Amino acid sequence: MKNSQITHWCHEIIRSQAPRGGFYIDATMGKGHDTKFFCELAGEEGHVLAFDIQVKAIEETAKMLIKNGYVERAMLIMDGHEKMSKYAEPETADVVCFNFGYLPGGDHNIATRPETSIEAIKQGLTILKRGGMMSLCIYSGGDSGFEEKDALLEFLKELPAKEYTVIKNEYFNRGNNPPMPVFVFKN
Ligand code: SAH
Repeated sequence: MKNSQITHWCHEIIRSQAPRGGFYIDATMGKGHDTKFFCELAGEEGHVLAFDIQVKAIEETAKMLIKNGYVERAMLIMDGHEKMSKYAEPETADVVCFNFGYLPGGDHNIATRPETSIEAIKQGLTILKRGGMMSLCIYSGGDSGFEEKDALLEFLKELPAKEYTVIKNEYFNRGNNPPMPVFVFKN
């Protein structure tokens, strides 16, 4: 994996900011890369919640956790991330992470949607501890279109600066609608 690849970049930022042995939420399991990364950060003491609405994502992630001996560290939830607050208390999580869009190699129609994504971000921000962070990988163009990216950025821009610091990154010289990493820090 290239160091500049979006998921790698997000992991590096999270690793540099988040405590070890904490509580982490992967709001979009997909192939389970973020879930695995969080299980590593969690160690023996911490724990991870991961969400997806597709059986395929749960199966792939479960397989990967078994292979790495991380089954005890993560709870895989087959439910929409817009119901996240049913599963976690306010101000408990160190990191909440989103990787929007569709599962590569899967059905491109089963993708995250602006309305549920924004609801999930709202709940995620409530679940975050003060000092915690949210990481968002935002996709656009191709089958993703621009509706979700535009809606998410519009929402994130309006977060009150007293409570949150929002840092938007950009692959500045890359064509073809590159993905966009965004970090939100809860003050
Ligand atoms: N675009 C990324 C991968 C994103 S995977 C890349 O190219 O690497 C996004 C995952 O979000 C998919 O597995 C999809 O099933 C899941 N998803 C879609 N809507 C969801 C929802 N409401 N709650 C939780 N997961 C959802």
